[in-house]
Amino acid sequence: DRFFKGTSKTRERLGLVDELLALWSLEDYEESLEELEEVLISADFGPRTALKIVDRIRDGVKSGTVKSADDTRAALKSAIVELLTSRGAAGGRTSELRLQGRPAAVLIVGVNGAGKTTTVGKLAYKYGKEGAKVFLIPGDTFRAAAAEQLAEWGRRAGATLGTFREGARPQAVIASRACKDPADVYDLVLVDTAGRLHTAYKLMEELQLCKSAVGTALTGQPDETLLVLDGTTGLNMLNQAREFNDAVKLTGLILTKLDGTARGGAVVSVVDQLGLPVKFIGVGETAEDLQPFDAEAFAEALFP
Ligand code: GDP
Repeated sequence: DRFFKGTSKTRERLGLVDELLALWSLEDYEESLEELEEVLISADFGPRTALKIVDRIRDGVKSGTVKSADDTRAALKSAIVELLTSRGAAGGRTSELRLQGRPAAVLIVGVNGAGKTTTVGKLAYKYGKEGAKVFLIPGDTFRAAAAEQLAEWGRRAGATLGTFREGARPQAVIASRACKDPADVYDLVLVDTAGRLHTAYKLMEELQLCKSAVGTALTGQPDETLLVLDGTTGLNMLNQAREFNDAVKLTGLILTKLDGTARGGAVVSVVDQLGLPVKFIGVGETAEDLQPFDAEAFAEALFP
């Protein structure tokens, strides 16, 4: 089940960059760059993104700005920061959510266990603290435990949880609840969704229905459609992101579990290949463990 699994080897593999740079010499830079490219590929950056990064370092060598191992390391980091920020996340700084609707609506999608419900809870807490009246819509209506988990987050964040009959289709919950509550009561509607159905196809179909239910019940499109990705997942994160993007046209990413040791090189590839900004990162299991994405800090963590 390639779509749902995969573990990052990034941390382990990137240790090789140190060994490689210890052997760096300007005379043999071409050989070193080829090896670097291989290490990046094996560390989940994917061939296309690895090539892009190495090409930028090669340009630096040719123009004379990259002469030493230290220069190479610096060029490597800045190439990564550039790839991570060229798509909407300005200069390593916060790319806040674009919330313009009244109420604003955010659809949260991702595979089971990625951290969707936790992230919805964290977002409810963050925006609640900033003064927004938040309304939560449970998407996984078939698992009572999932809705209960969301209810618990809602209580902590002072947000209101949409009620529903167990087994009701989430798009119906979205349509009925969002319509019943006048727009001026809530500032922000966060929609959690299911992460697994019988098939990936069924899941995508349901997410499309959820997305259009949000569009119909509220105003037009959701303000943001965010994919939650487990940051410890390997390169198949890219497959996941492609499938979700094809189905519901994403506007951004949230990476979870970056408090662990794994730092996914695959993230760079997802941002580069799909042109989606990372909006937030999850760094723990409590309501406050959500941070704005910082590309510089991310690159620094990859190559400490
Ligand atoms: P969902 O199935 O996508 O809704 O995933 P959940 O929100 O239920 O999260 C799955 C597991 O990952 C739970 O045990 C969460 O506590 C945990 N989790 C979510 N985000 C983070 C994070 O940023 N850091 C850590 N360490 N754990 C997280």
